[in-house]
Amino acid sequence: MEDTILVVNCGSSSLKLSLFDHHLSKLASAAAERLNTKDAGARIGGNDEGIALKPDASHEQALEAIVSALQNLELMASRPAAVGHRVVHGGETFHEAVVIDDDVIKAIDDCAELAPLHNPVNLCGIRATRALFPGVQQVAVFDTAFHQTLPERAYLYAVPRSWHRDWGVRRYGFHGTSHAFMAIEAARLLGRTPATTSVISAHLGNGCSITAISEGVSVDTSMGLTPLEGLVMGTRSGDVDPGLFDFLGSKGVDAEEVHQVLNHQSGLLGLSAQTNDMRSLCELADHGHEPSKTAIEVFCFRLARYIGAMMASLARLDALVFTGGIGENSARIRQQTIGHLGLMGFAIGTDLNKNHGSFSDGRIESPDSRFPILVIPTDEELVIAQEASRLAGRPEPADQHS
Ligand code: AMP
Repeated sequence: MEDTILVVNCGSSSLKLSLFDHHLSKLASAAAERLNTKDAGARIGGNDEGIALKPDASHEQALEAIVSALQNLELMASRPAAVGHRVVHGGETFHEAVVIDDDVIKAIDDCAELAPLHNPVNLCGIRATRALFPGVQQVAVFDTAFHQTLPERAYLYAVPRSWHRDWGVRRYGFHGTSHAFMAIEAARLLGRTPATTSVISAHLGNGCSITAISEGVSVDTSMGLTPLEGLVMGTRSGDVDPGLFDFLGSKGVDAEEVHQVLNHQSGLLGLSAQTNDMRSLCELADHGHEPSKTAIEVFCFRLARYIGAMMASLARLDALVFTGGIGENSARIRQQTIGHLGLMGFAIGTDLNKNHGSFSDGRIESPDSRFPILVIPTDEELVIAQEASRLAGRPEPADQHS
């Protein structure tokens, strides 16, 4: 148990922990929710009894309570061999996962203005874990790092260059851990190596993004300066005309309110006026709820347009990959999306698509499809554990963050 790897994922009001053994098999997972509110609660996966948390429990208090519960259940020794942290924004500083030291903490803090809702709370998890396990090596794995290979033509907005130079305004991309995993898994399933495999990876969960990966390297992606750009998501609008801010300003809606609505009351929720949850939306649509049908249509059409757009970044395509809660589980969304792409030669195998879980190769295209289409379950925690395990053996990093 000494050589377990702990993976920590801190959200604004939540905390998720996963524990892996030295073979990187998952031993346990736990989550705390509604932190800093009177309803704060925590639970270890598969265990019906919750973990007692004080009302208004903080991330630090939840972390301590969960670790102590894992230790009481003898799932965890006094300290893990290494801790991996999900960090949302690494700006242009971090191109890969790094061992955390004081300089790294400062650099993550410097990136906080690009992700004010995420980086401070990620840092909170890092500081709490450092205090709980002094001397244990901690590793930061960045959502943005995989996309640091984007060429200028894909990451620059057509705005004054000084905005990029002075304020870092550019496209960064997110969900990098999941897209990187898709590049590796797709290559494995196709019997190729990542360095010779080009894929379009569609991560469709509550947040959605799509990435063009050329020979293992991210060359275009749909999310931008923030995770708001691109596809239709659960509560996020994705692309809108930036003229919207001025137009709504003339109606008395200030920029802060537009920002709030675009992030939290738009996307599937905004279009359906019912729910941000795709599974519920599909049920509503089946019962004839027209706004839910429309929300699904807008979601699939935007996705199909982006799949087409990503083709412009690739010299060839070895597979289109679906992942995330929606991408992995919704045959309907995959079918409706591919239905728009016949002209490009994509064709879905209707039965394979419905029964993809029974086939280990993940393939759902029909024999006449020009390209393979794959469904691959994502596992971001495993990637973070792999990175933590890989870097934990290294000596103190002198200059790993370029
Ligand atoms: P994630 O953020 O990756 O956990 O994905 C969450 C999304 O996946 C939610 O919108 C769920 O409704 C959706 N989802 C999960 N299972 C299904 C399913 N069988 N059909 C449609 N959507 C699903």
